[in-house]
Amino acid sequence: DPTIFEVDPTIWCPNKPIPYSFLAHALSTLTTTRSRIAILNILTNTLRVILKTHPPSLLPSLYILSNTLSPPYESIELGLGYSTVTKAIQHVSGLSSAALKRLYTKTGDPGDVAFEAKSNVRTLIPHPPLLITSVYDSMLKIALAKGQGTAKQKQSIVEKLLVAAKGEEVRFLVRTLFQNLRVGAVRTSILTALARAMVMTLPSSISDTSAINLSHYADEALITAVKELNLTKSGGKKKKVEDAVDPSNILSEKFAAAEALIKRVYVQHPNYGHIARALVEMGLNDLAEHVPLTVGIPLHPTLGSPTRSLDEVYDRLENLAFSAEFKYDGQRAQIHGWKDSSEGPVSVKIFSRHLEDMTDKYPDVVQLVQNSFTADPELQSFIIDTEIVAIDPRNGELRTFQELSNRARKDVQMTEIKIAVCVFAFDLLYLDGQILLQEPFRKRRALLRTRLPPVIPEWKGAARLDHVRSVESEAGREAIEEFWQEAVESRVEGLMVKLLDSGEVLEEPSNKKGRPRRKPLPATYEPDKRTSAWLKLKKDYVTGLGDSLDLVPIGGWHGNGRKVQWWSPVLLALYDPSSGKLVAVCKCMSGFSDVFYKSMKEKYAEGSENCSYQNIWDVETGGLKPHVYFKPQEVWEIRGADVTISPVSVAALGLVSQSRGLSLRFPRFMKVREDKNIEQASIPDFLAGMYRGQQGKREKVEGVDDGD
Ligand code: ATP
Repeated sequence: DPTIFEVDPTIWCPNKPIPYSFLAHALSTLTTTRSRIAILNILTNTLRVILKTHPPSLLPSLYILSNTLSPPYESIELGLGYSTVTKAIQHVSGLSSAALKRLYTKTGDPGDVAFEAKSNVRTLIPHPPLLITSVYDSMLKIALAKGQGTAKQKQSIVEKLLVAAKGEEVRFLVRTLFQNLRVGAVRTSILTALARAMVMTLPSSISDTSAINLSHYADEALITAVKELNLTKSGGKKKKVEDAVDPSNILSEKFAAAEALIKRVYVQHPNYGHIARALVEMGLNDLAEHVPLTVGIPLHPTLGSPTRSLDEVYDRLENLAFSAEFKYDGQRAQIHGWKDSSEGPVSVKIFSRHLEDMTDKYPDVVQLVQNSFTADPELQSFIIDTEIVAIDPRNGELRTFQELSNRARKDVQMTEIKIAVCVFAFDLLYLDGQILLQEPFRKRRALLRTRLPPVIPEWKGAARLDHVRSVESEAGREAIEEFWQEAVESRVEGLMVKLLDSGEVLEEPSNKKGRPRRKPLPATYEPDKRTSAWLKLKKDYVTGLGDSLDLVPIGGWHGNGRKVQWWSPVLLALYDPSSGKLVAVCKCMSGFSDVFYKSMKEKYAEGSENCSYQNIWDVETGGLKPHVYFKPQEVWEIRGADVTISPVSVAALGLVSQSRGLSLRFPRFMKVREDKNIEQASIPDFLAGMYRGQQGKREKVEGVDDGD
């Protein structure tokens, strides 16, 4: 049974470093299954054994299992080329390069090649067993090798490892050197297993156990754990195991709590070293206090959920207050700035969306942050979430992402910077020693705005700091609509819509029979979550925007509020060449400047020859009845969000539906088409074509894979 690991008492006893063969065995067992439950059991039991017998082996094991050597922000890379490892395999196995090539063609995996190559080698002198800790140390040595002859040095370390490795160890060692273990242990499973292993430690009799079953919890440890749990539950009074509460229930409660805790701690402080140490020294209790969010260590960022239209945004957020922000097209940057003492120097770290340290790429941003501390002596520390965007240094105009990507990645010198940037800050996660993740977005944003005001340095090429442009839902749907149009016309990707205060929304039932329920929607900062409280609306997801329409203004309504003296909305029409008539398609009330409204009111003044209360120009309006009719005489360029089937419109009637016409949603005035007369306006066929094209595109969007 591959799940049984036979303990060799000569090489392994408690409190001595654990042989690498144990981990290799666990890895090999993991490759025998794709079942998530089995993977979790194997990982959990592996970690239980390690925690019980030699805790210092825990951290190297976590790194090996996760194919890494260090936390992501330290980016220690093995830097091993394919040829170095191949040469080492060749050297150790004595095979010719042709024979190795044949093995590669046969297996396709370097670990399998090494395993087969080494299986023919007879070792005369027995080597001391590889240990988990020594394998990890050798990998660190490989990563840190520097200077002349580095490749040779690395090759010699790999050879030593290969010589000492036996059987399955060879396969997994080489896979580890290529940073691809090919076992289904992703970060979530590792953290889950670690949590479970902490809940269910092994009984003290482990040292007598000669065989460890990696895939079943059902060993005496389970009974012991349950006994202990029941003891605690019944206030110390001993109960018979038979009357005890169902062990799997108690365990799953305990598991769930520990898993949530470890995952929460990890996403705020992704450092296995700090977590493993706290767990080993202090257990699960107060883990969050021992390994808190810390300035200088990046946390996993919050991610947004995709939406396809403003309608969807309003549906999903119902009537909760939100802020719609420009979604800039640059690079996400989590910026940490802090002083260790009030007089001390300012430290700055800039992390990418994947938590790599990219401080060296942005010396100008480092300078900007340092200046913020000088400007505000009260400031002690902060973490902000931002998008760094390339700008035109003369006027601050946004530049494309491509321009930003022209910047070198590492060791950029201030004097060499050619691409100026603006840091658009959109969230504040930490301020002066206070963690703000649990505060609602409205409060975090207010603090961001007051404590870190925009900065435009005198020297134009220097980095700027600004807040993202935004409009709040309180301003009304029309204002949001206009802001969206502005985004569409600017060098930004669209909008990020963010909930301002925590609330509740209707949850989509998971199946048709399920009844919809209200579920909480927090406006807190949720590290590593794709939250529904952040909705991204990208231009290229919104269909029908590709083309604009050329439409004729044919009527208007008396405006309300601020627009009471003007015509608003205005009725717009297509030109139907088959009947020679203008056919109303939609009402438009956005995109006009006040000056334009005024000139429109003068041109189509009540009582003038251009304006009538009767439909004297014989336009077709279907169910759209304006207060006044305009004399058709000009063409406007109009953009819309979407073409929809409408019960009131008669535009393109019969082309898509026999009983209904088409309309344009959220039309926006772009400009007057001086060069067109009304017979050159868009025709019903064009609108029907846009509708069909949009349906096709929608199907494609439905299949978009949006990441994790
Ligand atoms: P995701 O980060 O959601 O997995 P992704 O990497 O493909 O997806 P997008 O889908 O384009 O990125 O959207 C999210 C990104 O938008 C953020 O990671 C951030 O870099 C960028 N962004 C720009 N402006 C903002 C803003 N105002 N608020 C939040 N993120 C913004």
